[in-house]
Amino acid sequence: GHADILDEEAACPEEEHRRLDATLEKTRIQTLFLEKRVAERLSEDDAAIFHTHLMILEDRSFLDKIRRYLDQGVSASHAVKRVVGEYIEAFGRMDDPYLRERAADMEDIGRRLLGNLAGQENHVLLQLKSPGILVAREILPSDMACLDHEQVRGIVTEVGERNSHAVIMAKSLGIPALVGVRGVTRLAVSDKNAILDANSGCFYLNPTVRIIEEYRRLEEDCGRELHRLDEFRDLPAETRDGVRIILRANVGLVSDIDVATRNGAEGVGLYRTEFPYMARSDFPDREDQYQLYRKVVEGFAGHPVTIRTLDIGGDKALPYFTPPKEDNPFMGWRSVRVSLDNRDIFRTQIEAILMAATHGPVKILFPMISGLEEIDACKKVMEEARQSLRREGVPFAETVPFGVMIEVPAAARIASMLAPEVDFFALGTNDLIQYLLAADRNNPLVNRYYDPLHPAVLQVLNEVTRVAKRFGKGVCLCGEMASDPLNFLVLVGLGIREFSMPSPFIPRTKAFLRDFSSLTARKAAREVLVMGETAKIRSHLIKMVKEIENIA
Ligand code: PEP
Ligand code: MG
Repeated sequence: GHADILDEEAACPEEEHRRLDATLEKTRIQTLFLEKRVAERLSEDDAAIFHTHLMILEDRSFLDKIRRYLDQGVSASHAVKRVVGEYIEAFGRMDDPYLRERAADMEDIGRRLLGNLAGQENHVLLQLKSPGILVAREILPSDMACLDHEQVRGIVTEVGERNSHAVIMAKSLGIPALVGVRGVTRLAVSDKNAILDANSGCFYLNPTVRIIEEYRRLEEDCGRELHRLDEFRDLPAETRDGVRIILRANVGLVSDIDVATRNGAEGVGLYRTEFPYMARSDFPDREDQYQLYRKVVEGFAGHPVTIRTLDIGGDKALPYFTPPKEDNPFMGWRSVRVSLDNRDIFRTQIEAILMAATHGPVKILFPMISGLEEIDACKKVMEEARQSLRREGVPFAETVPFGVMIEVPAAARIASMLAPEVDFFALGTNDLIQYLLAADRNNPLVNRYYDPLHPAVLQVLNEVTRVAKRFGKGVCLCGEMASDPLNFLVLVGLGIREFSMPSPFIPRTKAFLRDFSSLTARKAAREVLVMGETAKIRSHLIKMVKEIENIA
């Protein structure tokens, strides 16, 4: 909210003119910075929107309108609010969809101007002068998409859950994140020393010398450990007894490609295509999408890349595609449901994927599938996409493996009916867990109900994996749960041989993998599958992992 809602009338017009000028200057610099960052991190195309913002910030008639209000004695904030409001309304009424979308730009600009007038820290993009820990009430995927990844050493928020999409993005960039820390924005003031230990969930403000020293030591150990892990990077991922496991990366932003290859990912098991769209001002066209996917495919030099179609809704909104207000967005109009209701957008995306598939091995993945009808519908759109590419004479790959996410309990239940229709399953445990256990992945209040080791979760994963094997179909687990050794041990024991995870977890997973045999994993799975209580399952696995580490 903006602090100066009451000072509609300004005491002194000259002072307001000065404030406005200073704010404009600051906002222009910010916008330039935004443009540069996004161009570096995402693409020139993505950055172009900030150039438009700059032009608006320098537009005579826009500025004159604001200044006229100031002359009448209106405060700078109110003048900005009014003029921006007038523009938003005018753009919103236009017939041309391009111009209509400019309303969103005005809103964005207005937000930045008002923030700067109120002396707030800019929350559109974090321009940190030096590396630091970001403390915020909440961080959304769109914030993650455009923040300064290099300078952000860590993230601490009051609201949010560890499986939220923003945290997933942070993880894949290797940025530690701690969420659900109530009161932290009140306590943490800038320029204070702080230590964030996301592994153990601790955030120290003004730590004592002893704590600082302790963490220095830990950091050194960590550095040595990373160095040790480096050796595993180019070794194949296999168990002690030589069972080959494939570890792929979950990626979203283009900047993830680098992180993934550095960590030795064997391709991509989950490319979340909605992430790069979040930092943009409107839907990329087919060519833009094709170029983007191509970049990812070529970035993995011959390793397969599984591209998932748009998965918006839930906690992922696009700035230019406002979702309807829903009481239960995660159980609402999200993901493939949105795509199937917007056939043109859907088909365009599939076309771009099929085009990118001429540059390397690509698989296509459909999210949030709950039944055969959606599989049929997706196949139909794929066929339409092929036909239109053929008609246009655009090169595309004829055979692209077709897979579905198993993340809705209904799909898991009828996995044997879905299997004949697909080439592979992707186990989306982030959602599967929340839907099976009726525990919102973003709600800290039900955090303790959201547990990957709940017996129901393990039973379902076991069944779906067996079904996939019986039908000779691929199965890859791409939920966050795989990055925890306890979970990983059981998952290997269930017979899952392909995983996709945030790439910083790949080296340590590989190292852990080489410490146990597939027989130990199978034993672990067999033993916990007959247990009915999460706590017992967990303590049993902790015991087994300890034994593994002792032997190693
Ligand atoms: C999942 O649901 O497990 C998954 C991998 O997809 P997302 O986290 O993007 O919903
Ligand atoms: Mg999901």
